[in-house]
Amino acid sequence: MTNAEAPKGFGLTIDFGAAAPTADPAVATKAAPSAPTKARLLILGSGPAGLTAAIYAARAGLAPVVIGGYAPGGQLMLTSDVENFPGFPEGIDGPELMANMRKQAERFGTIMVDQDVDRVDLSAEPHRVWSAGREFHAEAIIVATGASALWLGLESETRLRGRGVSACATCDGFFFKGQEVVVVGGGDTALEEALFLTRFATKVHLVHRRDTFRASKIMISRVQAHASIQLHMNREVIEVLGEKSTEAVMLRDTTPGATSAPERLAAGGLFVAIGHKPNTALLGGALPVDAAGYLQLESETTASQIDGVFIAGDVHDHRYRQAVTAAGDGCRAALDAERWLAERDATKS
Ligand code: NAP
Repeated sequence: MTNAEAPKGFGLTIDFGAAAPTADPAVATKAAPSAPTKARLLILGSGPAGLTAAIYAARAGLAPVVIGGYAPGGQLMLTSDVENFPGFPEGIDGPELMANMRKQAERFGTIMVDQDVDRVDLSAEPHRVWSAGREFHAEAIIVATGASALWLGLESETRLRGRGVSACATCDGFFFKGQEVVVVGGGDTALEEALFLTRFATKVHLVHRRDTFRASKIMISRVQAHASIQLHMNREVIEVLGEKSTEAVMLRDTTPGATSAPERLAAGGLFVAIGHKPNTALLGGALPVDAAGYLQLESETTASQIDGVFIAGDVHDHRYRQAVTAAGDGCRAALDAERWLAERDATKS
């Protein structure tokens, strides 16, 4: 069970803000030096939220400029098969899906700028964005910069990412049918992922570094009552073992004063669920965030506290974090921005 090769298609981790070190050249084309620096709508981020916003805005004739990062496409660029994005019954490669979204956005007039955003000034109109030494001006902005999964920081974890190591049970759980898996974390995400994984795994080992969970009481009760979940409290993963795929993890006892040697726990998958970090640093505190650092929406729309600035995708959504929900959010933000610009035009004329 535990020596299984990482299944084909494994590795869909949906946090679009993370840089993709090996971005597909089909998507990561050069920065567009000819891109206009004055736009009606500027979109920050080129994951599913940003590119869906671009498709809608471009079809509305807004010729949006997307500043999508040096490694555009978000973390779907690091994945193989995406099996849960509607419309692809056989699944689709993450980079191919992102390349398609980009082509679709460009077909209607989106201008892509493959550079990182350095900083923004949203305090006055037009809003200003600096990227690779250039200053962009826009009437409206959609912030779709995503969130990045937090990792344990182990060399073996990085090496085996996509080969049994994941940060998204919803995306990858299916590939672990009949295997034992480990989930790390003590918050609601970890407990939710552990429960979800019981649908596929023969046993789920939940490893938490303390003796009490941070998660809500109801989740704790469910996990404790579940016959397929084994708790490993006061334990931390110090290494992931395996050459081509994950075979086991090494657990260390974190109890103060504990002297026992690390134990080997056989498992074909390791799900790291220790939180996400929304990619908001580039905003320099211009928009309010909640206690967990996610951007806050002003109302039931995608409007932020600043007039003409809209928010889409994982940078504000820590609940769903799916490609399809981010795409839906991008659509909403584009429609909101389009209406906002139209109302502004009407007041001017
Ligand atoms: P979280 O509440 O911040 O929990 C993170 C967990 O990971 C904590 O138990 C923490 O341990 C552990 N951790 C952090 N760094 C670690 C490391 N380096 N090594 C080992 N363990 C580490 O994050 P979350 O669970 O993602 O939840 C984020 C927010 O979303 C929360 O407000 C949560 O309630 C909410 N959420 C809600 C739902 C829902 O309503 N359905 C679902 C998921 C999440 P310590 O406890 O020792 O710090």
